[in-house]
Amino acid sequence: MPELPEVETVRRGLEPVLVGARLTKVRQNRPDLRFPFPDRFVERLEGATVERIDRRAKYLLATLSTGETWVTHLGMTGRFTVDGEQLGEFEEPAPIAGKHEHMSFCALQDGRATRVGFADARRFGFMGLIPADQVEIHPWFAAMGPEPLGNGFSGAHLAEAFDGKKQTIKVSLLDQRNVAGLGNIYVCEALYRARISPLIAAGKVSKARLETLASVIRDVLNDAIAAGGSTLKDFANAEGGQGYFQHRFDVYGREGQPCLADGCAGVVKRVVQGGRSTFYCPSCQRR
Ligand code: ZN
Repeated sequence: MPELPEVETVRRGLEPVLVGARLTKVRQNRPDLRFPFPDRFVERLEGATVERIDRRAKYLLATLSTGETWVTHLGMTGRFTVDGEQLGEFEEPAPIAGKHEHMSFCALQDGRATRVGFADARRFGFMGLIPADQVEIHPWFAAMGPEPLGNGFSGAHLAEAFDGKKQTIKVSLLDQRNVAGLGNIYVCEALYRARISPLIAAGKVSKARLETLASVIRDVLNDAIAAGGSTLKDFANAEGGQGYFQHRFDVYGREGQPCLADGCAGVVKRVVQGGRSTFYCPSCQRR
């Protein structure tokens, strides 16, 4: 599943193609993805110019000249192609203009047309059109906490959000109201790098350690973005290997393998918290 770094990688790939471009030849090839496409979707996109493209948690937001914001969630297998090249690393090449391509358009920039397609084999992705001034109050975004890479995120924010919380720090970090867009993999990686036990109550972690955690969360995400999105084989192939390809984790997916921390003789353990796998080192993440 694409996590925040993969979505950011896709955003950076779309930005040079879409910003300042007029959308033409918009085609919609089916009525719905996870949810129906917006009413009159093609008409509302056709002729609009993209003013900017942002990311909020795992959503892509394209601000249009029409006063609407075009929102895309990639779900598990959603992907954009640009002139036939896919954005992001996948296990298999995108089915260009094939049966899984659910919409396409041309982006016209200075007389140059770029063909952009959106394919989603499993159709857990979705798109919406929201008035630009109502994005923050839309149900998809209204309850979201700060962006982990934004200015509103800090150890002080976590200390306030976690004050008195008995829920574990692992589960609390996955709660989108506390911090937006952090997925299971990066929470495991960040707690490991900060040497914080995933089993400890969120309210029991000291302010100093929450400061460390906040900066480590940024580091883990920035490292993954710099690597072009993360990358993992293990969820793929339920439907022909359409998954985002994730790699290089220090603790995630390493059950039974030696801890990589200097001087630690621990072995990575897997437990289930809130229905999700947690990987951690019981030796160096003791409290
Ligand atoms: Zn260890």
